Amino acid sequence: MLFFTKTALGNLLRKYSTRMYPHVVREPFKDARGELYNEIDKCIFCMKCSKVCPSQCITVDNKAATWECDPFACVYCGVCVENCPVSCLHMKPAYRKAVYDREMIHMQGELKKKKAASAQKTAPELATAANPDDLGESPE
Ligand code: SF4
Ligand code: SF4
Repeated sequence: MLFFTKTALGNLLRKYSTRMYPHVVREPFKDARGELYNEIDKCIFCMKCSKVCPSQCITVDNKAATWECDPFACVYCGVCVENCPVSCLHMKPAYRKAVYDREMIHMQGELKKKKAASAQKTAPELATAANPDDLGESPE
């Protein structure tokens, strides 16, 4: 009993060991694997990340240009990040927020061929707007 009282009083006077999370958030450690993030503009939808993922939580559709990850199935091993050929996958040193629903990380990209085609389509239009003489048109 005396031992317990001593411990209880000691705990009342001691500085807290815990934080009032989420109001007080600890700074993430260096190289912490907090959140998986895809720079979708760089992604080429090669599906390598989904093939190497040990928990099979990544789904890539290379026709619809979508990349999806189940953050609740991910074990944050970083294998997908290490194997991405264009280095568009990263681990952000951030805390995942508490959520009520199990939502997937869904990202919509653009197929590279489409991007190239739309760039070719807009290039002459831009040139016309900038200088019509460059296209051989004589001003009236
Ligand atoms: S490995 Fe990289 S480039 Fe390939 S689908 Fe995954 S995120 Fe995209
Ligand atoms: S970090 Fe690991 S478990 Fe999570 S998506 Fe990448 S390969 Fe899969």
